[in-house]
Amino acid sequence: MTDSPMRVVTLGTAGGPRWWADHLGAPRFGIATAIVVGDRWYLVDCGDGAGHQAKAVGLSMVDLGGIFLTHMHSDHLVDLPSLVLFGAFELKSKVGGPIPIVGPGDRGRLTPLSPRATSSPEVVAPQRPTPGVAGLMDGLLAAYATDINDRIFDSLAKSPRDTFAVREIALPSDCGFDPDHAVAPEMAPIEVFRDDLVTVTATLVSHHPMAPAFAYRIDSAHGSVTISGDTAPCENLVRLASGTDLLLHEAIDLDNLAAQYSDTEMLQATLDHHRRSHTTPADAGRIATRAGAAHLALHHLVPSYVHPEVWHDAKTTFEGPLSIPQDLETLVVSRTEEPAPRVLA
Ligand SMILES: [Zn+2]
Ligand SMILES: [Zn+2]
Repeated sequence: MTDSPMRVVTLGTAGGPRWWADHLGAPRFGIATAIVVGDRWYLVDCGDGAGHQAKAVGLSMVDLGGIFLTHMHSDHLVDLPSLVLFGAFELKSKVGGPIPIVGPGDRGRLTPLSPRATSSPEVVAPQRPTPGVAGLMDGLLAAYATDINDRIFDSLAKSPRDTFAVREIALPSDCGFDPDHAVAPEMAPIEVFRDDLVTVTATLVSHHPMAPAFAYRIDSAHGSVTISGDTAPCENLVRLASGTDLLLHEAIDLDNLAAQYSDTEMLQATLDHHRRSHTTPADAGRIATRAGAAHLALHHLVPSYVHPEVWHDAKTTFEGPLSIPQDLETLVVSRTEEPAPRVLA
């Protein structure tokens, strides 16, 4: 691995709640992205295999500066339990404060029932049906309490309550957010984390009906990385990614998805859903161009098994360098030269 002072390591590049493979049948792990700055690293999303993949490239829990969760879909969260529970063993010798886990708060209202529903489903966990990261962590620790208490009381292990600190992102009260009707009102990016190496800002993105859903931007002295999270084309993301050195954007291939459906109504419903909550490669290219991103990489590839050539459609709308990284690829981040001022006629 390169030792450049800021780099991205793609721990997992597939999107969606399955065990994915690429076009050759090799595993593509769930969405998880490490941003390495100096001797520290930051993790955006915890998809399937994130802990294992971090270990494979020598990223230690001791050096983990923070975990940033974009939204509450399981393909972005499913490996958080292993980081919290298995990570405890590596963290025994960690000095300093707890590792922050930053992410969305409670949705506040149950997702509206689809107009296509023909019956009324039973709500799961009706006492807390739409938890954010605090509820997720409470539930996770409760579910694993026998194991955790065994280790705390018998082996004198540290409690995950002391090694991790949950921080739900507070939205500006006047931003106009409504989980059903305005998931990504226009807003200025908000700072959600800062240490001596990085500043992390976030903005609401459009992943209806999942809300709140965030994109993150990590700025250091060496450059900036912006990660879209799951979103349809979104003005807030253009603003967050303005002039960024590397934009990692999600991408979906609607043609390949459409080929899986023979039922016309189901096909239309699926395409409607994906169009308002995800982004095609060409649209990701448009976003990168409008934001003035120096380098575009597509990840959270859905479906993961299409030929990589499909994602190159982004070249029709973005002239800069385009990457379609495999798992465990390194993308160097360096500050882009300011473009020469344009002379106005
Ligand atoms: Zn996803
Ligand atoms: Zn999602």
